[in-house]
Amino acid sequence: MANRYSFWSLLRHGLKHHQSWQPAWKSPRPKDRYDVIIVGGGGHGLAAAYYLAREHGVKNIAVLEKGWLGSGNSARNTTIIRSNYLWDESAFLFEHSLKLWEGLSQDLNFNVLFSQRGVMNVGHTLQDMRDIERRVNANLLNGVDAVILTPRQIKERVPLIDIGPGARYPVMGASFQPRGGVARHDAVVWGFARAASDLGVDLIEQCEVHDFIVENGCIKGVNTSQGPILAERVGCSASGHNSVLAATAGIRLPLESHPLQALVSESLKPALDTVVMSNAVHAYISQSDKGEFVIGAGIDGYVGYGQRGSPHVIEHTLSAIVEMFPTLSRVRMNRQWGGIVDVTPDANPIIGKTRVKGLYFNCGWGTGGFKATPGAGHLFAHTIAHDAPHPINAPFSIERFLTGRLVDEHGASAVAH
Ligand SMILES: Cc1cc2nc3c(=O)[nH]c(=O)nc-3n(C[C@H](O)[C@H](O)[C@H](O)COP(=O)(O)OP(=O)(O)OC[C@H]3O[C@@H](n4cnc5c(N)ncnc54)[C@H](O)[C@@H]3O)c2cc1C
Repeated sequence: MANRYSFWSLLRHGLKHHQSWQPAWKSPRPKDRYDVIIVGGGGHGLAAAYYLAREHGVKNIAVLEKGWLGSGNSARNTTIIRSNYLWDESAFLFEHSLKLWEGLSQDLNFNVLFSQRGVMNVGHTLQDMRDIERRVNANLLNGVDAVILTPRQIKERVPLIDIGPGARYPVMGASFQPRGGVARHDAVVWGFARAASDLGVDLIEQCEVHDFIVENGCIKGVNTSQGPILAERVGCSASGHNSVLAATAGIRLPLESHPLQALVSESLKPALDTVVMSNAVHAYISQSDKGEFVIGAGIDGYVGYGQRGSPHVIEHTLSAIVEMFPTLSRVRMNRQWGGIVDVTPDANPIIGKTRVKGLYFNCGWGTGGFKATPGAGHLFAHTIAHDAPHPINAPFSIERFLTGRLVDEHGASAVAH
């Protein structure tokens, strides 16, 4: 396949190697035994394998993926990256990730097209504005960049938005995180995959994990579509399917799996150079480097595993987008898709140990785990390597659902993505 990037783009980003969309490896046959198995070849699983090999010196690692690398949510999301969460624990978690994003292309020697074009959360009511002010102040106290924009400042940055008095959803102001932005999702997957492969990690596609092998309360390995594979430690990062897998080890995770969908328009000339999100009307929009408007919807209310989503949800999102951006009313849709996200009761993830020794879970990222990809992988690798959480992910253990020490970001961090 032809290289997607021009020679000039490669030079500009200072990359040493040819950057191809084709994987540079062939999926190997699994060995009988590994030191660490990671279940799930999405961005999180690949990042965990990469940091385990690079920072913790673990040599004998396999990532087992039931489909192809990046076939899950990692390449189905709207790629919004930000760290402007309300609570200290969440802000530290997502800011840890944002800092890793800022050096990721150099770190992986692969251009992930991380673009810090800023993320704007628009307020339509007085209560929205009070929540925005509270969150911006909390962000500033935690060292996270955040400003409040007036309607005029919003209009200067986003000429397409309707801030007029007749707008159905009046624009009263916004929070803005200048360091937020977007990245190229499949490049993130390939970047981590290639870097992990270079460090000797076996990336095994078409290898579905059926259940965990547990003896006397300790993990011994996994049964897969390619037979049993043994390991002393297993980290599970199988977004959307974690609770089903956990149940095979007798663990009940507080997760619900829901379809979440998005769409892109036909390609247009550049017209929007930031990310605009609205919590109240549940609509998010940015413009990709290809010119498509990327629009995200909310989750379907029912639980399910269909990678599509209900038409009425996307219809609601589009009517809200057209109210806010009337000039987009005649733009045509190019394609729509869905993914399965697993959601916790407090809208924050679980990254930690389980009561089965050597079995760890990184799950429950809901609608917002893409931004966490490097951070989650980094912290998950630390947790597996030390058999103990890093201080940043310690508050995100499974135990919080027993002790009641929830970190509830529901409605607090502006919007879900
Ligand atoms: C439409 C949509 C929009 C989104 N928008 C955003 C956004 O703007 N910003 C943001 O931060 N987040 C967003 N998200 C959420 C984000 O995509 C996810 O939280 C994140 O990608 C999770 O990464 P992951 O690597 O854990 O999961 P995945 O990429 O889903 O990887 C998990 C992998 O596990 C594999 N797997 C499952 N079961 C098994 C098994 N039994 N054996 C082996 N492998 C298995 C799957 O095939 C999959 O490849 C969005 C999600 C969707 C669906």
